[in-house]
Amino acid sequence: MKLSKEIRVYCSTCKKHIVHTVSVVSVSRKRGKLSKGERQKSRGTRGHGGHGKFSKVPVSKMARRSKTTRKIPIKLTCKECGKASQRSLGRMKKTEIKR
Ligand SMILES: [Zn+2]
Repeated sequence: MKLSKEIRVYCSTCKKHIVHTVSVVSVSRKRGKLSKGERQKSRGTRGHGGHGKFSKVPVSKMARRSKTTRKIPIKLTCKECGKASQRSLGRMKKTEIKR
């Protein structure tokens, strides 16, 4: 979906409708080197014997997903006071801001 660069929405600080600039919120970066699951797996697969749940072929997170789209948050910045707020746009495959 193509989004317009600016939209006129309510600003809770200015208490009126003001033109806001639209930007797509970036995905947060990964924390730490190994995730909890990765640490669990390395603990489970050391030594001898059956590895229980780790003996199976791992199923990727993407394979477990049933939805093909994701909810997209956008960042709205007020042009008068500079206050930023977030808003969800619902499910869509791709977002693009018009130039
Ligand atoms: Zn404002």
